Amino acid sequence: CGIIARIGHGDATETLLSGLENLEYRGYDSAGIAVQNGDGVKVRKCSGEVDQLKTSVEPRLHGNMGIGHTRWSTHGPPTDANAHPHTDTVGDVAVVHNGVIDNYDELRAELQAAGHEFESDTDSEVIPHLIDEYRDRHGDTERAVRETVETLEGSYAIAAIVDGEERVYAARKGSPLVLGLDDEEWFLASDVPAFLDHTDEVIYLEDGDLVVLEPDSYQITDLAGSPVERPVDTVDWDP
Ligand code: GLU
Repeated sequence: CGIIARIGHGDATETLLSGLENLEYRGYDSAGIAVQNGDGVKVRKCSGEVDQLKTSVEPRLHGNMGIGHTRWSTHGPPTDANAHPHTDTVGDVAVVHNGVIDNYDELRAELQAAGHEFESDTDSEVIPHLIDEYRDRHGDTERAVRETVETLEGSYAIAAIVDGEERVYAARKGSPLVLGLDDEEWFLASDVPAFLDHTDEVIYLEDGDLVVLEPDSYQITDLAGSPVERPVDTVDWDP
């Protein structure tokens, strides 16, 4: 299983799909991507292989930023509906998640009581709904993501995109997440092979890190919101 995200200038779709193929070695049963292009968040996902996903991505999805996922099911069978990315009820927040959310049952019940409609059996689907809920309350997505990860119990590497925002939000606890730095684009992935065709400059994120990527900048903070400095490494990868 794995996640990938990309933001920069130019199209993200090809990079997301090839990144997912480069993560296939981790094992998976479903795959999906979401892109944001100023015209809504578009999701394509299916059970099965990245190859199948590629055919369902026709007609081409375009967008300079997006997220992708290969799923290793823990909660809910490997169906199209359970594949990631998952969205909130109206579909303007999309999230990919690796890991397990231990308190999803109670969160789901609370969210449903507040009017959120769920489409999958996964533990992960609470995440976009929580971001949406907190965003409605505060009008601030970064704060909403911070509050969401504070609410989650369990393990996660997550990446999220939101309609109308040229940003990727990400966080980790107990699941790996690496930031890749290229001249004109940023990547996030579970492991470096996902983006090694593009760059070998990386930052290994740590538990409690929250990342905001924009096309020309990135920011890492801790859960309290204070900036965090992490060293840039050069990967010495011998495939
Ligand atoms: N627990 C989540 C699910 O079953 C994520 C699994 C994964 O890490 O791929 O959908």
